[in-house]
Amino acid sequence: MSTSKQKIAVFPGSFDPITKGHEAIVKRALPLFDKVIIAIGNNTEKNKYFTLEQRKLYLEKTFAHLPKTEIAVFEGLTVNFCQSVGANFILRGLRSVSDFEFEKNIAQINRSLNEEIETVFLLTDPEYIAFTSTIVRDIHKYGGNVKLLVPDAIEGYF
Ligand code: ADP
Repeated sequence: MSTSKQKIAVFPGSFDPITKGHEAIVKRALPLFDKVIIAIGNNTEKNKYFTLEQRKLYLEKTFAHLPKTEIAVFEGLTVNFCQSVGANFILRGLRSVSDFEFEKNIAQINRSLNEEIETVFLLTDPEYIAFTSTIVRDIHKYGGNVKLLVPDAIEGYF
């Protein structure tokens, strides 16, 4: 039996709410890791549109059928959370050059905080490039239909 360390990735985000773009990144990451923990970073300074309970429920419903996934909520630094759950990878999705500029700074800082944790980026599927949580919130706020943008498993909640 192999004693090599399990490959665990944390996919951190606000998920306010989860979109089909996030869902696709997790599904594509699953063959690469033993486990993917989708983790809501609960930064109390940031105002959120959906409550923590709603955002967590949407993640649970979306990934309920995928045994290699887990849902979590954390406070504080992502690298500290990774350490607490034995994760050696941070998963992030990249949609654009502006995402890249932002993400590369965070990844470099995270690496300086803990060099044992690698950030792994997956490029967004072209059809999901415009799927942002911000757009979902705006459409929802003004009574529009967000069903096309959120995972099928949770479309009934909106
Ligand atoms: P944050 O508040 O940390 O930006 P988000 O919930 O908005 O959290 O996003 C979490 C991660 O998902 C980020 O890596 C982001 O780039 C990625 N992401 C967001 N939308 C999409 C999408 N449509 N396709 C792929 N990745 C995405």
